[in-house]
Amino acid sequence: MGIASQTSTGHVAHIVAAVEQVIGSSTDCPVLLHGPSLEGNCWSYVKQCIDTGWVSSAGAFVERFEKELAAYTGAGYVVAVVNGTAALHVALQLAGVQRDEEVLMPSLTFIATANATSYCGAVPHFVDVDERTLGMDPHKLADHLSQIAEVCDGRCINRQTRRRIAAVVPMHTFGHPVDLDPLVELCQRYHLALVEDAAESLGSFYHGKHTGRFGKLGILSFNGNKIITTGGGGAIITDDQQLARQAKHMTTTAKLPHAWEYVHDQVGYNYRMPNINAALGCAQLERLPELLAAKRALAEHYRQALAAAPGVQLFREPDGASSNYWLNALLLDAPDRERRDQILQAFADAKIQARPIWKPMHELTMYQRCPRADLSTTRSLAHRIINLPSSAFLAKQG
Ligand SMILES: *Cc1c(COP(=O)(O)O)cnc(C)c1O
Repeated sequence: MGIASQTSTGHVAHIVAAVEQVIGSSTDCPVLLHGPSLEGNCWSYVKQCIDTGWVSSAGAFVERFEKELAAYTGAGYVVAVVNGTAALHVALQLAGVQRDEEVLMPSLTFIATANATSYCGAVPHFVDVDERTLGMDPHKLADHLSQIAEVCDGRCINRQTRRRIAAVVPMHTFGHPVDLDPLVELCQRYHLALVEDAAESLGSFYHGKHTGRFGKLGILSFNGNKIITTGGGGAIITDDQQLARQAKHMTTTAKLPHAWEYVHDQVGYNYRMPNINAALGCAQLERLPELLAAKRALAEHYRQALAAAPGVQLFREPDGASSNYWLNALLLDAPDRERRDQILQAFADAKIQARPIWKPMHELTMYQRCPRADLSTTRSLAHRIINLPSSAFLAKQG
C-alpha cells in the first residue's frame, strides 16, 4: 500500500471513529440512517381508532391533525393527504401547472418533485443549487431566467422551448431552508407560481417563518423516515382559503356534500389521509419540539466530534435560518467519488447506515432530456455528500 492510500485509509478510519464517538459503536444491530421515535401517545391514539372502529376515511383525528399542523406552522389551512408525493401532485395542479408546461426545480432533489410534475403532464426544468443551502440557487436562477425567459401577457415563456414556465419548486434539502426572499421576488418578477417542497423541513424556519409558507402552496411529508411520521402521509399547506377548499375537494374524490347521493363534479383523487394515520400524526406532533431539540443536539455532537476530521465538514444550517436538522450531512471538501465510496464502505463495514445524496434528476433516464440550466454545483455536490445516522433517539447517547 502506498503512502497516499495509507493516509487516506487513516483519514477514513478517523471519520468513522468520530461518528462512533457520537452514536456508539454498533455490535450486531446496524445503526439505521433514520428511524421513527414512537413514544408518547402514539399507541394510545392508534388504539383509540381501533377500539372505536374509526380507522379509515372518516374520524376526528384528521381534522385535529390538520388544525394542529396549521397552528404549528402558522399556515392558514392544512389538508392532510396520503403522502407527500400526492400533496405535490395536487399542489402543482392548484398552482396552475398544466400539460406541456415547465416547472423549475433543483436537479438535486428526491424523485417525488420531478415525478409529481410528470403526473401533471408537465416537464421538469432543472436548475442549480447553492452550496450554502444545498437548495435552489436564486442568483443562478435569475441569470438563467434572464437568458431564456420572457414575460408575455403575464405568462412566462421559455424562448428555447416555446413552452410556458408555470411554477418554481424549491426543496429544503435535509431540512435546511433555501434562500427564499430572492426566490419570492423572482417569482413575482416572472409571474411564476411558487410551490415549496417542504417535505423534509417540518420544524424549519426562514427568518422566523415556517418553510412551505412563502408561496401559493407548500407541501409536507410524514413518511416513515421524516422528522415525524404518520406511517405514510403528507399535507398541503396554504394561506389561501379558496385553494385549501379546492385541495380538500380534489383529494376526496371531488364528491359534493350530500347525505346519501354520490355526485362528483370533476376527476378527483382518493388522496385523503386515513384517520388511523392522522392519530399517529397527532401523537407525533405533540413530540415535535422534543424531536427538534434532540436533532439539534445530535448535529452539535457530530460537529464537535468531526471538527478535526480531515477533508470533511458537517453541513451547518444557513444564515438566517433555523433548520430541523432532519438528516445530518457530511460535506467532502472536494468532489472525489472514490474517496466518498471508501468512506461509505467503511461505514458499511462498521454496520453504520450512511448514504450518498440522490443521483441528480437530470442523470436519470426518464429526465435526461429535460431542459436544464448550468448544473456545475449540482455535479460537484452529487459526489461530496454523505448522510449520517440521524434518528432523534441517537442524541441521548451523544
Ligand atoms: C419525502 C419527500 C417527498 C414526499 O415523499 P412521500 O414519501 O411521498 O411522502 C417529496 N419530496 C422530497 C424532497 C422528499 O424528501
